Amino acid sequence: MSAAPESQRMEKIVSLCKRRGFIFQSSEIYGGLNGLWDYGPLGVELKRNLKNYWWRMMVHERDDVVGMDGAILMNRSVWKASGHEDTFTDPMIDCRSCRARLRGDQLVEKKGVKQCPVCGGKDLTEPRAFNLMFKTYVGATEDESSLTYLRPETAQAIFVQFKNILEIARKKLPFGIAQIGKAFRNEINPRNFTFRSREFEQMELEYFCRAEEGMKLLEYWKEERLKFYENIGIPRTRLHVLTVPDDERAFYSKGTYDIEYDFPFGRQELEGVAYRTDYDLVQHQKASGKPLEYFDEETKQKFIPHVVEPSAGVDRTVLALICEAYSDRVRSAGVIVARMKSARRLGSPSISKRSVKKTQNFATRSRCANAIP
Ligand SMILES: [Zn+2]
Repeated sequence: MSAAPESQRMEKIVSLCKRRGFIFQSSEIYGGLNGLWDYGPLGVELKRNLKNYWWRMMVHERDDVVGMDGAILMNRSVWKASGHEDTFTDPMIDCRSCRARLRGDQLVEKKGVKQCPVCGGKDLTEPRAFNLMFKTYVGATEDESSLTYLRPETAQAIFVQFKNILEIARKKLPFGIAQIGKAFRNEINPRNFTFRSREFEQMELEYFCRAEEGMKLLEYWKEERLKFYENIGIPRTRLHVLTVPDDERAFYSKGTYDIEYDFPFGRQELEGVAYRTDYDLVQHQKASGKPLEYFDEETKQKFIPHVVEPSAGVDRTVLALICEAYSDRVRSAGVIVARMKSARRLGSPSISKRSVKKTQNFATRSRCANAIP
């Protein structure tokens, strides 16, 4: 049996995910809601194992990292100070022929003319900035004074709690604060299954350091994170490191790597490892008026630390693991079997024997006939 063409392969993975209880469309009986997904019995075990393994490697097995769990809703001032309210946008373009709503960078170009990828039409609107944050209101009045957003990243909760955690954790630089949690982005055009969805989960570490250590730690964390993916069963040959070019990096970043994976729909980012300098803490110190400095007892200096951020997507990594398990099966000539070796490896006994057992049971059951679409 030869491998199915890549586009068909993705369709088969989506349908397998549903039939085996990994991932369902959200609110499916009502026709679903675009860009939103639910994890079924097997999917939730895999996802949990992944998050537990990340937490173990990034927090429990390190002396220099502590964890936190922040609220999804935060004071709107956070998003003003971080720059999200003004600049967290995608260019939106409408096709006047078929009314498709498109992201500026998703247009196709033929003979130098931009075209709608849906209908091929050339009658397109000018791009306008569309903010990706979901708005909501806190309390009983719905006006500007009660407006805030569902967080588009978990990182900001770490920055605004930096001082509290620094005081109680008594860590010396370099040290990190880790968090796993939901984030929300109102994508113009969600696509590629769970890869680009409107609600997703992040595993983020903010690793604070001295300015002079920033570039070195960027390299360190890139390597650490590559090892992580290899440990969970994603072979190095399908992982790629993209050095984000100067003109595509966030203006405050001095260096960013994207760790990419060969999905059936193309090479796409699993994780960003970014040296964010002292940008975020400086912004929050300015906007809040509260000191966010670190005091170095040896040199008696006060300064705002720099930060290196490895930021991984839970859902993307789950999808990559599923794609790996699937390609294994295809390669073994259709004989059998979703071995779900990643799921098992992730469920290290020291985390939770029962959860491993459960995953294995599910995995075993999913081996039966018809596992291959
Ligand atoms: Zn169109």
